[in-house]
Amino acid sequence: MSDKKMQVVFASAEAAPFVKTGGLGDVAGSLPRALVAAGADVIVMVPKYGTIASEYTDRMEHVADFYVSLGWRNEYCGLERLVIDGVTYLFIDNERYFKRDYPYGFFDDGERFAFFSKAVTESLQHLPEGFQCDVLHCNDWHTALAPVFLREFYQGLPLYERVKTVFSIHNIAFQGQYADTILNDILGMAHIPNAARQLRCDERSINYMQGALDYSDAITTVSPSYAWEIQTPEYGEGLDGILRRRSNVLSGILNGIDTDAWNPATDPMIHANYSAADMSGKKACKAALQEELGLEVRDDRPLMVMVTRLTRQKGMDLVTYALDRILSGGVQVAVLGTGDYEEPMRYFANKYPGTCAARITFDNALSHRMYAGADMFLMPSLFEPCGLSQMIAMRYGTLPVVRETGGLRDTVAPYNQFTGEGTGFTFANFNGDEMGDAVFRGARLYWDDHAAWDQLVQNAMAADFSWVRSADEYMNLYHNLHPEIDITKPEPVVAEPEPAEPTAVEAEPAAPAPEPAVTEAEPAPKTEQAAEPADDAKAEAPAKAEEPAPKTEPATEPAKKTAAKKATASKTAAKKPAARKTAATKSTATKAAEKPAAKATATKPAASKAAATKTTAAKATATKTTTKATASKATAAKTTAKKPSTASATKTATKSTATKAAPAKAAATKTTADKPATAAATAPKATSAKTAPKAAAAKTAPAKASTSKAATSSAAKATVKSAAPKATAAKAAAPKAAAQDSSATTPADKPAPKAKSVSAAKRTTRKR
Ligand code: ADP
Repeated sequence: MSDKKMQVVFASAEAAPFVKTGGLGDVAGSLPRALVAAGADVIVMVPKYGTIASEYTDRMEHVADFYVSLGWRNEYCGLERLVIDGVTYLFIDNERYFKRDYPYGFFDDGERFAFFSKAVTESLQHLPEGFQCDVLHCNDWHTALAPVFLREFYQGLPLYERVKTVFSIHNIAFQGQYADTILNDILGMAHIPNAARQLRCDERSINYMQGALDYSDAITTVSPSYAWEIQTPEYGEGLDGILRRRSNVLSGILNGIDTDAWNPATDPMIHANYSAADMSGKKACKAALQEELGLEVRDDRPLMVMVTRLTRQKGMDLVTYALDRILSGGVQVAVLGTGDYEEPMRYFANKYPGTCAARITFDNALSHRMYAGADMFLMPSLFEPCGLSQMIAMRYGTLPVVRETGGLRDTVAPYNQFTGEGTGFTFANFNGDEMGDAVFRGARLYWDDHAAWDQLVQNAMAADFSWVRSADEYMNLYHNLHPEIDITKPEPVVAEPEPAEPTAVEAEPAAPAPEPAVTEAEPAPKTEQAAEPADDAKAEAPAKAEEPAPKTEPATEPAKKTAAKKATASKTAAKKPAARKTAATKSTATKAAEKPAAKATATKPAASKAAATKTTAAKATATKTTTKATASKATAAKTTAKKPSTASATKTATKSTATKAAPAKAAATKTTADKPATAAATAPKATSAKTAPKAAAAKTAPAKASTSKAATSSAAKATVKSAAPKATAAKAAAPKAAAQDSSATTPADKPAPKAKSVSAAKRTTRKR
């Protein structure tokens, strides 16, 4: 093993605190710091947008400039450096492309991000002294062309020979698809048959992300379930075929959250601080939030919030369908967000004053107050690669109500009424009635069983969503690509500041070795879902809020039986990403880390490095790297031979020595540098919407009916979708489906009220 540190260039179109429009910004803001803490050297490359606050631009240091060829163009590229928390940021400067009012949504985005990708690749020759890039880690479509450029234009240069590429999918819905004229005019690749073929997605278009999937040495996505889902036609958005073909290099690594920025014990943006040990501050936060939002200030109303893009992906069809039932059932709802569903949200806020509030804006400080002040957090996504909001909510003791998809399924353990375990409330199908049932399962628990509710809150707050676990998994992945580089973890420096009481969901200290694979095992059914919900009308009546109701959900299975099934579930969950993690005895996030699903890498480099190398070696097959540890050399040779793009990847055959790790490296520097208070300091802000006048609201009344259409198609789709990944869900849903469909097909007499503000339009299209 060499003494060299793993040196990683991390390229992203956004990174908090400089620019953030969603989860990608959060990830690129936190993961590099965690990688530094895990022992890597990291340079983050981000476009130097015109929106980056002067507090940062003023401190940037110009380190290099050069020209980047882009088809017939020769474009200026400056490199501006800023070091924060041990991470070096290199901002790619080109005012023609990036000095604009917001990051995405321009006619020339295809050209802008082709430039960014080429500039990133070219920049590897201009890195600070001593930094030799081992891994180029690209994120989402904006950087997808970098692995393509690297192999087609730079491969021959010695400096690039050692560079391995990792491509992370944060959302496969945004792929960067453009007219194929770009191939010649901007990419200058029309004359390279391999590139032209691998980028083309139909007779007239090319697809940046598709290129990355073929050219990268390793592919990751942000949760194990999503890694599985995107290999299916339902979730793959047309790229599932390529992902199935490249499944040997695809893995799902859960995102974490910045546990310092999101910490109710120290958060300066919330009304009162609190912790798992002393929750009194949360009550004060709730009362303050109710007052701020114009809601009735009463603790006997569960307050459910959403902080989200108001888009179809985020389940807004279900929300608008079920809101009447939820609001008239005694649950307060507050929504913070912008997007396609602003007008319906205004309508509900007007129809239910004191019970519903809508803030149509992007407001980081308010989002903190909402996470802290709420009892429940609604996230009924159609699909969700990972999702950060539900993890943030749990950190603040706000119980999530989520659909079991992607990262939501991997991070939220459903409440088990028999054991009291769980961290939230879940439902399987994309169906408004199922979502409503899940909301009222939560509400009823809030009203009826304070002890159980409080335990769930404790469970949620104890779940481990720090980046440490994910960073370890990324380090293992990098090590797999560069087995000659020692990744022995330095002394732990990331300390969790908040003392958490031990609870049922406390993470276990050591990761048990994964059991031998079982190919088909039926996951345990979700017990509380098997029980038909109690009489909704009765249970949801507002009077319920005043009068504690008896528990109405009958137990359909004896607890004993459930426990037995639970054991099966926990076994199978580790083996199949699609398997339900019904009976979680700890957070599913922790589980995912402990028992990586099929493709996930082993999690504890220090403890079980050899094992990690073994389990992940098969995934390195995109490269011609051979390791001693791998038992799948034959497969590797086969795979690489088949793939022209990857065959050219690298010809270096590296021998992994079985030598034990060198002494721990010097502890990473403790992060003390100037971290800005708000992550969204520079995020583009949507203008605050004025509440629509009541008369206007009355006109838009048939919101429910109109959305039922969408709900219908979704419901129909949902049964198909759920069938493959979730045997249990499909089973449970089957008898219900007809009823759900009929309720969803209420004739729509008017289209849904829609009014897209300019700002909202910007935000929702930016990523494309
Ligand atoms: P996505 O990246 O798909 O939008 P995530 O859940 O992964 O969803 O991340 C969303 C992030 O953006 C969270 O940090 C959330 O708090 C934040 N966010 C979303 N909408 C708003 C808003 N209107 N105001 C403030 N923060 C928001």
